[in-house]
Formats: sequence, structure tokens, C-alpha cells
Amino acid sequence: MTIKSLTPQFVEHFPEKLEPGELYLAMEFATAAHLCACGCGNKVITPFSPTDWQMSFDGETVSLKPSIGNWTLQCRSHYWVRSGRIEWAGDMSQEAINAGRKWDAQAKARQQSGRPSGEEIREPAPRAQEQTQASSLFGRLKKWIRF
Ligand SMILES: [Zn+2]
Repeated sequence: MTIKSLTPQFVEHFPEKLEPGELYLAMEFATAAHLCACGCGNKVITPFSPTDWQMSFDGETVSLKPSIGNWTLQCRSHYWVRSGRIEWAGDMSQEAINAGRKWDAQAKARQQSGRPSGEEIREPAPRAQEQTQASSLFGRLKKWIRF
């Protein structure tokens, strides 16, 4: 059965069995879970972060940005959650999906390189790492100036 709307359920942990039509929000983990709106019964996890999904709660309903594309599921559902309602989006071409994935990866890489060293890099020489980054940036700047 197709799900038409998602009701927010704020939980500490996701229950073992999700109910269709419920959007489980584990704010402590900045993640939501629901069953795919097409009714296939697959669990869809949407983590919240600047490069994943943004959740907005208006006091009654939840909206998620961007759309949810379940390309890894057999149903390949693609829909928006706007004010708790499921709005179906058209099927995306494989190229558009790949382009979106590439953009995601690049956005994540950008965000990670902007983080202070130590989180991703476990080498005990963060200073050397910083210098490498700085010099490569300088090298890039020099190239920019030259051309
Ligand atoms: Zn589905």
C-alpha cells in the first residue's frame, strides 16, 4: 500500500519494527527512519547533516530536503516529504543519479577537508599535515596567478 503521509514520532532509538506511515526521528543521532513510501516495506534511513538531509519540524509535521531517492531499493522510489505529505517525484535518469552522487561525494570531501585535522587523520603529525595542505593550496594559487 502506498503511504500518503508520514507522522513524526520522536524516539530515543528506532524500534525494531517500523510502522508504515510513521517517520521515526532520533534527534540524538540526527537520523530519521521510515518505511519506503511505495509500500515495499524497506527501511529508509535519512541522516541529517548539511550534506545529507535537512529536517524541518513545524510543530506538527516534518519536511525533508532534498528528495528521498531510494535508488538502491528495487522499487527505486523517489519522493519528497513536504509537511508530512509524500509527494512523488519523477524517475531520475541514471546519469542524473550518478551526477547527484558525485556532487554528494564532492560536497562531503569539501566539508571534511575544511574540518580541523585530527578527526579524519589519525597520524600523530597534524602540523605536518596542515603544512602539506597549505603548500598545495599555495601551489594552486601560484598556478592561478600564472594563467
Ligand atoms: Zn519502496
